[in-house]
Amino acid sequence: MDSRNDDWNADRPARDESRGGDRYDGPSGMNVDGTIETNWHEVCDNFDDMNLREELLRGIYGYGFEKPSAIQQRAIAPCIKGHDVIAQAQSGTGKTATFSISILEKIDINSRDCQALILAPTRELAQQIQKVVMALGDYMGVNCHACIGGTSVREDMRKLEGGQHIVVGTPGRVYDMISRKVLRTQGIKMFVLDEADEMLSRGFKDQIYDVFRHLDSKIQVILLSATMPADVMEVTTKFMRDPKRILVNKDELTLEGIRQFYVYVEKEDWKMDTLCDIYETLTITQSVIFCNTRRKVDFLTEKMHARDFTVSAMHGDMDQKERDVIMREFRSGSSRVLITTDLLARGIDVQQVSLVINYDLPSNRENYIHRIGRSGRFGRKGVAINFVTDDDKRMMADIEQHYHTQIDEMPMDVANLI
Ligand code: ADP
Repeated sequence: MDSRNDDWNADRPARDESRGGDRYDGPSGMNVDGTIETNWHEVCDNFDDMNLREELLRGIYGYGFEKPSAIQQRAIAPCIKGHDVIAQAQSGTGKTATFSISILEKIDINSRDCQALILAPTRELAQQIQKVVMALGDYMGVNCHACIGGTSVREDMRKLEGGQHIVVGTPGRVYDMISRKVLRTQGIKMFVLDEADEMLSRGFKDQIYDVFRHLDSKIQVILLSATMPADVMEVTTKFMRDPKRILVNKDELTLEGIRQFYVYVEKEDWKMDTLCDIYETLTITQSVIFCNTRRKVDFLTEKMHARDFTVSAMHGDMDQKERDVIMREFRSGSSRVLITTDLLARGIDVQQVSLVINYDLPSNRENYIHRIGRSGRFGRKGVAINFVTDDDKRMMADIEQHYHTQIDEMPMDVANLI
């Protein structure tokens, strides 16, 4: 059958090189923060427009779904189109229904072949998925069997021999059924790995491979996961072809509502004076000042203290207790200006912070949005001020281009905008 039997590298050359980025040497298709990089942007925000078969649509509405979730809006279409897909979204965001709907749309109900195989890490999850598939496919007359350890092998064989359109199971039992040739793989066109991070790491990897090498080399592979560690992403390059990657963040950061300015400081040495000049403005609200290194944070904090400005500082070299105290003071508002590194760019969600200073421009452009971006949903307003030396000009242009945004020169009356 399939010639693929050496290792994960066998006959799937299609590592996705579409990224073209040069800033990060992890696996391609990943962001530095360990999330996948989206390369599929189509969105369909209701089930009616997905061109689903009538009985499936009835099943979906009958199950109580009215509107597709964010991951469903994005990932169902490429799955139905037959692309390999990697979908990353938090748990509880509707990933199960994403692949279930896609599979149900694609199977030929008149054939008795097994056409889709879903693997999950636990028996309970496999059973749960089977129930969802059966419920959504209620009006289609679909057969879906959960093939899991701890149940009667003979019963499993009987069920499989009866014909199942879809099999969902744990790797061990599924492989057993394939070896016994009760689960025939010729007709399987879709292969889904739920909880892919878990499935492709450590213990499971070899078992998955055992299953995979029995599948047709042209099989469509769909991966779903809440997290996507770099080593897992690396493995995917070996058995997926030009995968469409879709990341749904819980709260998508946007630059909407953030006024962005720059102050031209020419040289590094002039930044300090500039900061002191605008200190009054900083304290109107609460501000976070970002530096690129811990040493710079310490250095700047010392200098500010020496000039009698009140600032607090936090970075990763400090012990946790100290960090907690500083964070508490800042959250409570008793400290108003916090100097820190990118370490905190992602975690900080202090509602009152409406001014962010990039004392140093971030060394990579992704961090820019983490430092100054806001979760769009809450629509908070804010101001960001970038200190720009001669050396930074290119980086600033790069940021503007990357985010399709405009950074204006800081006006004299910036305080009025806060
Ligand atoms: P995940 O696989 O991402 O952990 P699930 O697919 O288990 O998430 O979905 C979580 C819950 O949300 C389930 O109870 C499911 O029935 C429900 N759900 C999923 N999609 C929708 C939808 N489009 N509308 C309403 N509820 C949904």
